[in-house]
Amino acid sequence: MDCIFCKIIKGEIPSYTIYEDDLITVFLDINPSTNGDCLIVTKEHYENFLDIPEDLINHIHKISIKIYSILKEKLNIDGITLIQNNFYGQDIKHYHVHLTPRYKNDKLTHSYNKEDLLELKKIFEKIKSA
Ligand code: AMP
Ligand code: ZN
Repeated sequence: MDCIFCKIIKGEIPSYTIYEDDLITVFLDINPSTNGDCLIVTKEHYENFLDIPEDLINHIHKISIKIYSILKEKLNIDGITLIQNNFYGQDIKHYHVHLTPRYKNDKLTHSYNKEDLLELKKIFEKIKSA
């Protein structure tokens, strides 16, 4: 399969791997938003959150906490944001969780078109409609 993350896991493409065990690998994101931005990637190829087994999600949660502690100690991070993209917005179709360290002085924002948004009441009615 022509999957870049599978290739990293097999050692065919280099990465800055900061942690690994039997189930997951954690490496630095090649295009970081902040210092220490990294990805938890499953060793087995699952495409997205519909495919991944629940016990593996639990494991990833535990590892997120471990990585947070490491980054807190080594990089003195102030917070951490977890993001996991699926379908639209997911560039690499191999399940992964972004761990993005936050720093009090980082200027990280996410941009969106506030003007295009519907009123909350309208959205609520659409979601709750029969
Ligand atoms: P997503 O859009 O959620 O699929 O995110 C894919 C992420 O993988 C992006 O943040 C990329 O910067 C990152 N990425 C792509 N190729 C590599 C690579 N060879 N090594 C490390 N990170 C990568
Ligand atoms: Zn893969």
